[in-house]
Amino acid sequence: MEWWNSISLRTKITGVTVLLLTFGLLVTGLGTMTVMRNFLFDEVDSQIRAAANGLPETFSISDESTLWGGGTGTPTDYVLAAVDRSGEVIEANEQWRAAEDAPDTSAITRSFTLENAGIPFTVRNEDHTSEWRVLAIPGSMLGSNQYYSLIIGLPLDSTNKAIARMFTLFLLFGIVVVVLGAVLTRLLVTSAFGPLRQVEKTAAEIADGDFSQRLGGATPNTEVGRLNRSLNTMLSRIDRAFSDRARTIEQMRRFVGDASHELRTPLVSLRGYAELYRMGALQSPEEVAQAMDRIEREAIRMSGLVQDLLELARLDETKPLRLAPVALLPLAKDAALDTMASSQGRVVTVVTDQDGAPPADDADLEPPGDGDDESLDGVPETVPSGAGENGEGRQRSRRLPRLARPAATTGPLAFSRAQLARLRRRSNGAMPVILVADESPTSRPGPPAVVLGEENKIRQVLTNLLGNATRFTAPDTPIEIVVRTDAETSTAIVEIVDHGEGIPPQVREKIFQRFWRADSSRTRDTGGSGLGLAIVSAIVAAHKGTVEVDETPGGGATFRVKLPLLPKPSDEDDSADEE
Ligand code: ADP
Repeated sequence: MEWWNSISLRTKITGVTVLLLTFGLLVTGLGTMTVMRNFLFDEVDSQIRAAANGLPETFSISDESTLWGGGTGTPTDYVLAAVDRSGEVIEANEQWRAAEDAPDTSAITRSFTLENAGIPFTVRNEDHTSEWRVLAIPGSMLGSNQYYSLIIGLPLDSTNKAIARMFTLFLLFGIVVVVLGAVLTRLLVTSAFGPLRQVEKTAAEIADGDFSQRLGGATPNTEVGRLNRSLNTMLSRIDRAFSDRARTIEQMRRFVGDASHELRTPLVSLRGYAELYRMGALQSPEEVAQAMDRIEREAIRMSGLVQDLLELARLDETKPLRLAPVALLPLAKDAALDTMASSQGRVVTVVTDQDGAPPADDADLEPPGDGDDESLDGVPETVPSGAGENGEGRQRSRRLPRLARPAATTGPLAFSRAQLARLRRRSNGAMPVILVADESPTSRPGPPAVVLGEENKIRQVLTNLLGNATRFTAPDTPIEIVVRTDAETSTAIVEIVDHGEGIPPQVREKIFQRFWRADSSRTRDTGGSGLGLAIVSAIVAAHKGTVEVDETPGGGATFRVKLPLLPKPSDEDDSADEE
């Protein structure tokens, strides 16, 4: 089978076609020839039989006039002879005597038996140069008791010649048909395999490293066309995978390079201060205190950086998230409170179109007073753990939202008295978080902004975005957090809207890259590492969402996070309510 596999497909197809053609022609030819031969012989036989019937019943050997003389009743073109048992010709007619190649009578007597009496058969002459069809009629000679056989026959020369000619003609035609068939098949196969050869050529080029090559040329709905299409798709995938891999490696290299660079800077200054101290350059207690302060700040910066790096590395691991339904509105509210807690005089407003948000008129309200503390009218006393001791820290309400009942989620704010008092002082007594219904006329209350995600990660997104909004804007400019849903695309949207410098369009793509910082923020002591937005982008991507940045109308940056809404059949609402 080895040799068969080593033959090219084109040769195989041509060979098989030629073989089949030859076989077909042979079968047809031989069949036709046999049938034809039998038919012609039958013709001769019936002629002989007819002639034999015309012979007289009895005759004398010397009956010249009737039998041998070619006279009355004797068919003229037949050979006729009386042969004795030993095959000797006793008497023969004119034709027999004239024929140089008269039938071999000994062969006749040899093959003649009583069984085949009356059945014509074929004999040759003595030299085997010609054939005869003969019929032997046994009898006894008139007037003697000698046995003889009367033999009447016709030459088969013309019949044989006709058959031979037919055979030659057939052979000639057969050869022409086979050759033509072979040529045509070859041409057809070659042209049909043209696109395949093109595929072969292109594949070879690709194998040589030219990945930009694509297959083409074949009509789309042919086998080769479909093959080409599939191969092209495969090539594009491979190409993409290759470039993705190259990009990842490049990113990794840059990431490691940037990370070490970022870590080296604080380390160098730490070493510098340590050296100064060792050399006794820091003499006064003030100098030592200053150095310590710097060391501490560098250490804080470094640990922040390391934490960010760890966070990113973990996100890169693409570990599955611990998914649970997360309502975005309470997270936004918490983030707003946290921001105001840590940034003096900052007003952060949560804007939402969610059901259950107080109407716009009541939005900037102070909650109804409970009368016992003038400055803290109406503020509920739900105290989150750790609240009150550290006003700058992240205060998170323990009263997490109850899903699908936004009224509860936007209800009383969870703040300690002390914390609230501090907040108030900072924001000039204004209530820190204001919930207003989205006033745009087109909007109807959207479905609750509940997504499937990991709560801590989503909080981190808000923290990072709000952290940027506070760092890159003047302290007295307000910040809005918009929470809404788009029922059409089934997404929950959170926007962090600030009114600072904004982000120039040409760097809007870049800010999400790792370690990317605007030059101004490098020089300004914003303390960022350039990883904040990279983390945001990684978290959002892990939640199958998108994050983009836009210009705030009137100036500033608007970061828009879109996350797929939790697909929620209505009956699940109730069960969520029960929790
Ligand atoms: P950083 O640690 O420097 O904040 P980020 O990845 O969070 O790193 O941000 C990258 C850069 O994007 C920042 O250095 C800053 O130049 C720009 N940027 C981010 N948020 C804002 C914003 N709200 N307003 C203006 N510029 C911003």
